[in-house]
Amino acid sequence: MISTTTVEKADRLQASLAAAPQRLLIDGRWVEAASGKTFSTFNPATGEVLAQVARGGPADVDLAVSAARRAYESPAWRQMNAMDRTKLLLRLADLIERDAEELAVLECLNNGKPAKLTRLVEVEGSIKTFRYFAGWPTKFGGETLPVSPRGGVRILNYTTREPVGVAALIIPWNYPLSMAAWKVAPALAAGCTVVLKPAEQTPLTALRLGELALEAGFPEGVFNVVTGFGDAGAALVEHPGVDKVAFTGSTEVGKAIVRAAAGNLKKVSLELGGKSPQIVFPDAHLGDAAAAIAQGIFFNQGQTCTAGSRVYAHRDCYDRLIAAVSDHAAKLKIGNGLDPDSDFGPLISQEQWDRVSGYVEVGSKQGAKLIAGGRRPPHLDRGYFFEPTIFADADASMRIVREEIFGPVLSVLRWTDEDDLIRQANDSDYGLSAGIWTNNLRNAHRAAAALQAGTVWVNCFNLVDPATPFGGFKQSGWGREHGRQAMEMYSETKSVWVNLT
Ligand code: NAP
Ligand code: MG
Repeated sequence: MISTTTVEKADRLQASLAAAPQRLLIDGRWVEAASGKTFSTFNPATGEVLAQVARGGPADVDLAVSAARRAYESPAWRQMNAMDRTKLLLRLADLIERDAEELAVLECLNNGKPAKLTRLVEVEGSIKTFRYFAGWPTKFGGETLPVSPRGGVRILNYTTREPVGVAALIIPWNYPLSMAAWKVAPALAAGCTVVLKPAEQTPLTALRLGELALEAGFPEGVFNVVTGFGDAGAALVEHPGVDKVAFTGSTEVGKAIVRAAAGNLKKVSLELGGKSPQIVFPDAHLGDAAAAIAQGIFFNQGQTCTAGSRVYAHRDCYDRLIAAVSDHAAKLKIGNGLDPDSDFGPLISQEQWDRVSGYVEVGSKQGAKLIAGGRRPPHLDRGYFFEPTIFADADASMRIVREEIFGPVLSVLRWTDEDDLIRQANDSDYGLSAGIWTNNLRNAHRAAAALQAGTVWVNCFNLVDPATPFGGFKQSGWGREHGRQAMEMYSETKSVWVNLT
């Protein structure tokens, strides 16, 4: 049963979205795109148009970057003391909390994932991220260093941290509000000004976040939002007025960004794809492992950069593990995310549906054994729904094992020898995350040390927290979000030498 209040909220939101096109936020004002163009954004659960949104392009990016530059140099922001920045970030977190239900429903409508997950992951996660980074302005400073000059000269040497400047934040559609928070919160905490470019599929919560930032009292131009397509992102990355680009998305676009940022050598941080292994030792608690493995791949319909898409199960537990994971998959309730019982929503778009279904075909053709899913759920005839899918008997040469599918497709492989297992798990261009399932401390630490991944989870999976660094080895990215490392990414270090003699 769909809850009436959620449906009423969704109806109200849809009516207000239909009433007028969504505009860009530039310099504290809501404006149309310079071209006057708009584009449609959709509800993936129905395929229906949800809103018209301003299609920002290079001219709008230029205005937004100039506004961000002016704001960056204005005393109102540049000289704002650390505690006042903390207060603004806390106020923004409070406003997200005030509007939590509306944001959760809006995200459900625009992204498709179940509202019970948008409440938890997008909204609560964003509140937590803003509150965490709100603590940093008063704690993020330099140090005094014991330098050793020659000739009896006495020196005071200290470092300061300064904001890097104007930051372009380019985010994907899979966790729209969270990804915005992950970037906006540390950037503002460090004292940058920002231009946020949400993905074309999911622009709506980024715009609401911009509105709340205005209400919180951030000075005009500190937080700008330019909606549009990849050309708006590309214009940001090329713009000489941008000092830093933080990007989450595909490895392919990440590489294009690195090339385009070379013009003025922008600082670049990248959070890209993954093909995360989950390795199961024969001594693992299989019930726990199976539940987390199902969750690790089917959460968010597999559209997660850390999705545990390759499972390496020891031959002694291989069959039992597959049976248990399949049981979990079969129990997932697939449906419209407004239904409080839904665990599993649609994919983001027809394009993504075609991509996932193409991989299922390739997997079968290359000899993997399809044991669950692989198709549209028969009871849902519209929207971009795709069943949780499991392949057994996969091997290292298969494309479903090597490439990021970004959908609910799990490949299960069998292992016998630990050295070979680790070699296979590391045999990937990606290195974002990995999971280990074992009750033996030595197995856990040996594997954690050997796996090439930015995050290793032992007897758990997909836990994230703003206090701990998140990012990838190899082609999964550059830099780390969260924690002190995020503050470092949005700042420069200055070393000051003072002659005291
Ligand atoms: P994408 O093309 O990498 O898009 C991510 C963001 O970059 C969007 O805001 C996009 O704008 C923007 N963008 C596109 N081209 C750009 C350019 N040349 N310069 C600067 N910004 C640019 O990702 P996608 O097309 O949405 O998804 C494709 C695949 O990427 C997925 O199937 C998945 O494998 C991977 N992906 C990974 C993550 C992750 O969390 N690591 C997230 C999403 C997707 P537009 O949306 O307007 O094009
Ligand atoms: Mg794209």
